[in-house]
Amino acid sequence: MYSTMQDVPLLVSRILRHGSTIHGGSRVTTWTGAEPQRRTFAEIGARSAQLAHALHDDLGVREGDRVATLMWNNAEHLEAYFAIPCMGSILHTLNLRLPVDQLVWIVNHAADRVVLVNGTLLPLLAPLLPSLPSIDHVVVVGPGDTSLLDGCRPAVHSYETLIAGHPTDYDWPELDERTAAAMCYTSGTTGDPKGVVYSHRSMYLHSLQLNTVESIGLTNADTALPVVPMFHVNAWGLPHAAFMTGVNQLMPDRFLQPGPLAEMIEAERPTYAAAVPTIWQGLLNELDANPRDVSSLRNVTIGGSACPPALMKEFEHRHGINVCHAWGMTETSPLGSVAHPPRGLTGDDAWPYRISQGRFPASVEPRLIGPDGREQPWDGESAGELEVRGPWIAAAYYGGADGEPLRPEDKFSPDGWLRTGDVGTISPDGYLTLTDRAKDVIKSGGEWISSVEMENHLMAHPDIAEAAVVAVPDDRWGERPLAAVVLTEDAAVDYAGLRAFLGERVARWQLPERWSTITEVPKTSVGKFDKKVLRARYADGELEVTTVGD
Ligand code: AMP
Repeated sequence: MYSTMQDVPLLVSRILRHGSTIHGGSRVTTWTGAEPQRRTFAEIGARSAQLAHALHDDLGVREGDRVATLMWNNAEHLEAYFAIPCMGSILHTLNLRLPVDQLVWIVNHAADRVVLVNGTLLPLLAPLLPSLPSIDHVVVVGPGDTSLLDGCRPAVHSYETLIAGHPTDYDWPELDERTAAAMCYTSGTTGDPKGVVYSHRSMYLHSLQLNTVESIGLTNADTALPVVPMFHVNAWGLPHAAFMTGVNQLMPDRFLQPGPLAEMIEAERPTYAAAVPTIWQGLLNELDANPRDVSSLRNVTIGGSACPPALMKEFEHRHGINVCHAWGMTETSPLGSVAHPPRGLTGDDAWPYRISQGRFPASVEPRLIGPDGREQPWDGESAGELEVRGPWIAAAYYGGADGEPLRPEDKFSPDGWLRTGDVGTISPDGYLTLTDRAKDVIKSGGEWISSVEMENHLMAHPDIAEAAVVAVPDDRWGERPLAAVVLTEDAAVDYAGLRAFLGERVARWQLPERWSTITEVPKTSVGKFDKKVLRARYADGELEVTTVGD
């Protein structure tokens, strides 16, 4: 027997229509380095319609075509976020920090027809155009040196000229909710990058989840600052969630350095912000050196890589900001788990829960698979690889225009769960604690050592600015940990002291014997510790290593 309920497709256009009417007065402010640019949600809605008309009527974009963006977080990017999926085409956000050969590969694999590019990013795009045969049109957004495009094959347009004069409403098609809406390629540390294709349905449901109090739960009294880039996993879904609830948005554009971030927080007074730990660490140091009023910020979400507990605590103690830790990945839209403490726990009692990766929402099911391939119990001790499934979790990667979807077996289990590559434990009450990436696990004498736990302890030491612990080959134990540390400005090297400090916090057999001081932990294109680079430096003999024993 079927239900008697309406079967209304969950479409991005419903989010746009709702936000630009019911919350038409909510604002999008883009930081420009000079006078901020301000637009209402109603104006964003009207300009999205104009953009859709221009893409359809002037550039011949049709349903199913891929339209790429190479843009910072700003109002025009938001207009593209809505116009492209709502008209039935596919928004393809390009990660501007990727190595250029990967960018070229990705555009060609997606066969993007049009690229919208911020003028300030033309020096990056222009030299690549001869290698991008599928691109027919380049649409330049905002000021930039357009002479860089002189003589290029694709037609060049100015965004404002292109959309001007087009109608400010659009009869958005009533699509099947499973239609592709947006795509994003994973950074691809091994092999070719892999394309994740989100549906209207998955984005809609993910946005609803983001708006619950057990997730991020902003209201229309909030102003959100998404420092997380719109070119990486849809800025964690914040732009869509904000349109559902009328949350004002403060877009940082290209001003992502700690100084301008502190300045825009003081001037525009956001109540909420989201970013990866490295951004927050930079902001904390900036506020020490150049104090600013950041008291408007009440909540921030930190995710994208393990957040050192010391960083969370410093923000709370020194600036009164509640930091919430969350886990996710490109393949999970990205929101997976969020670390709110259980009911009734506050202060010190809440910290063990808050520094974990948190609990999963009802729509995302987790399981842990041990090294023997068997499901592990949720006892807070048995470690395994995290697998997840749910309506906003990828079931495959994009296989190209003519290809079948790709389901590599290291990424998808035979029964259809996503293999996250993250290793950790789950407590009986459902809190996930990640100890490593599967490929970063340190296996010493048959036992796993958590590099993340050791890094967190080290980064709480006053002499340490950053620390990465990686596996290096060892004749006796198979692998042992190497601690690579970045010292704070005035600190002197004292490995024995650091080892003793760690010895009070982790089991003695886990303590690293090999230590090295580096100037910076290498990072990936999205600001995560890049441990494979460190391991390679060690293998190539580039690290100066000191051995410290008992
Ligand atoms: P990406 O697809 O580039 O967003 O990377 C996803 C990966 O980032 C995950 O599989 C994790 O390894 C890592 N990650 C994201 N959030 C966290 C977190 N809160 N703690 C630890 N690792 C995280």
